[in-house]
Amino acid sequence: MNRPIIPRSPLRKNGKNNNGSFIRDITALCEQLQLPNSVKDAAIGLNSPFPLRISKSFLEQIERGNPNDPLLLQVLPQTLENSKVEGFSDDPVGDLSNSVTPGVIHKYRNRVLLTVTGACAIHCRYCFRRNFPYNSENPKRDNWDSAINYIHQHSEIEEVILSGGDPLMLELENLSELVQQIEQIHHIKRLRIHSRIPIVAPERVNEQMLTWFDKVSLPVVMVLHSNHPNELSTEVESVLNRLSQRGVRLLNQSVLLKGVNDSAETLAKLSNRLFDIGVQPYYLNLLDRAHGSAHFEVSAKHTQEIAAALQTLLPGYLMPKIVRDQGKSSGKVVLCLESL
Ligand code: SF4
Repeated sequence: MNRPIIPRSPLRKNGKNNNGSFIRDITALCEQLQLPNSVKDAAIGLNSPFPLRISKSFLEQIERGNPNDPLLLQVLPQTLENSKVEGFSDDPVGDLSNSVTPGVIHKYRNRVLLTVTGACAIHCRYCFRRNFPYNSENPKRDNWDSAINYIHQHSEIEEVILSGGDPLMLELENLSELVQQIEQIHHIKRLRIHSRIPIVAPERVNEQMLTWFDKVSLPVVMVLHSNHPNELSTEVESVLNRLSQRGVRLLNQSVLLKGVNDSAETLAKLSNRLFDIGVQPYYLNLLDRAHGSAHFEVSAKHTQEIAAALQTLLPGYLMPKIVRDQGKSSGKVVLCLESL
């Protein structure tokens, strides 16, 4: 498989991009977070085309001087990622075997997913698409033509999912152009957006973007991605409120991650906080086994203990469905306690 080339922003010498919103340099990160040299040492020697990238807003939520901060661990490159572990692959959920035209993944009969960009505001080290070939699987390469034609020709498709990367990293003009074309297709009933932007770079959801949401004629479901209650700042809350006011339905999916959120108390806190800010807990995904992410995997036994404890802490409507993606054509399955 080709290695991905993630679109990058021009860098200044201090490791930030030209608008100062991202950190991409381990030394700058350690300085800003007052981390010991051992953190930097553990990252040096990592041989990965998936570089460090953290938004300023996410950085602000990380505790200074704490190398085990649960938000830091999600984005901190470590040489551990070099290990090749059996059962892990570059395409753990079968994206490529379900790609019908570049950047269009048709796995489930009535919905289709577009990988509209490879760009993200942060690089989550456990990402299941960390090795995805965004260059070749790019639906924008012909101005969306093949993707739109494919959707037109498949009247069984009712929902288009914009994914990536992060679709809200697209220039608004590009996003708008794509969505206008989707809106013209009569059999499309819903638009779904998978995005971590409102959580990790809420400032990007600005007035211009909110005004654009007002104009979208399809019902919009936004599946957010938050793994830990510390990610949900008051700024995040305010942006989510404004999206809700525009009729955007908000759901959240998380990934169960060792050292980050592998405790029932943390996950219960997350669900409660999501409810308080108007977001429905939706999925708790077990780790998709992408090369470089093995150190995040939680054992089956511990997963079972967490799930059992979580059920006692949460009312049913706040309990996320625990799911595993089986890859290839079988897709996601919802797990019950006995099958974990
Ligand atoms: S924001 Fe989503 S797509 Fe981007 S690196 Fe994180 S998990 Fe992957």
